[in-house]
Amino acid sequence: MSELFDIKGSVALVTGASRGIGRACVRLLAEAGAIVYACARSEEALHELAAETEGVRVCVLDLRDEVMVEELASEIMEAHGRLDLLVNNAGVLGPRASLDQTSAEALREVLEVNVVGAFNVLSASYPALRAASSPRVINLSSSVGRKGRAQWGAYSISKFGVEGLSEIAADELGEDAVVVTLNPGGTATDMRAEAYPDEDPETLPSATDVAQTIVLLTRQLRAEHSGGRFSSRALFELAKTSPRGAVELP
Ligand code: NDP
Repeated sequence: MSELFDIKGSVALVTGASRGIGRACVRLLAEAGAIVYACARSEEALHELAAETEGVRVCVLDLRDEVMVEELASEIMEAHGRLDLLVNNAGVLGPRASLDQTSAEALREVLEVNVVGAFNVLSASYPALRAASSPRVINLSSSVGRKGRAQWGAYSISKFGVEGLSEIAADELGEDAVVVTLNPGGTATDMRAEAYPDEDPETLPSATDVAQTIVLLTRQLRAEHSGGRFSSRALFELAKTSPRGAVELP
């Protein structure tokens, strides 16, 4: 196995950091010693997170605003000269509806955040990622981004876009970079509650459980994984059957 990625001292950017999976991910990465740029629109939630966790830098922005995203990428480049890890996690659900019940406007709104927003961050980060010695990019996808399913219209289409974005970046960023998608699976967050209002969140993995799989991926990804698709459920199983710290990705 090649050397593990060292989270301590790394520079990370996590989008969708104000709640859910992104917030948990910021916490775990910062606790492991990374400098973490935590992005979202909700200023108060981000300042609360930064006050609780050392090493967190707040960036209040809407990912749809490409100028602000460019400014953030330049700020990271100026401060650190590189970006080691991008967790492209922000997303919206949009309407749970069949295609004939989805308006073009609703589709556009979801694509604007989930695809254009993810594109804005990833493309603006290219110079800083290229300046890192072994950059990692983890793009949050979904099972419906890999196989279409009825009633998941706009969201499903957007996650197919994320899968494509990820494969293109894996091909473009060169052999030192590792770019993958992660399907977190059903996770107890606001988005899941919006999609399944009658479900008991206690029956689901927590955002922290999923953030642990993001940390695991960050550490263990190797060059040959680039362009690959991972799922948190499979990683939970792998972690259960492997002795502590010795997980080897398939
Ligand atoms: P949440 O709804 O809990 O959090 C979404 C995050 O995205 C928030 O921090 C929100 O911050 C941010 N966000 C939304 N729109 C924008 C915007 N325009 N600009 C900047 N930030 C934005 O979602 P989850 O934690 O559940 O989901 C995280 C990722 O995992 C998503 O990509 C989702 O599609 C994926 N996923 C989740 C599953 C689940 O069961 N939870 C299952 C499969 C995939 P703010 O509102 O402050 O801007």
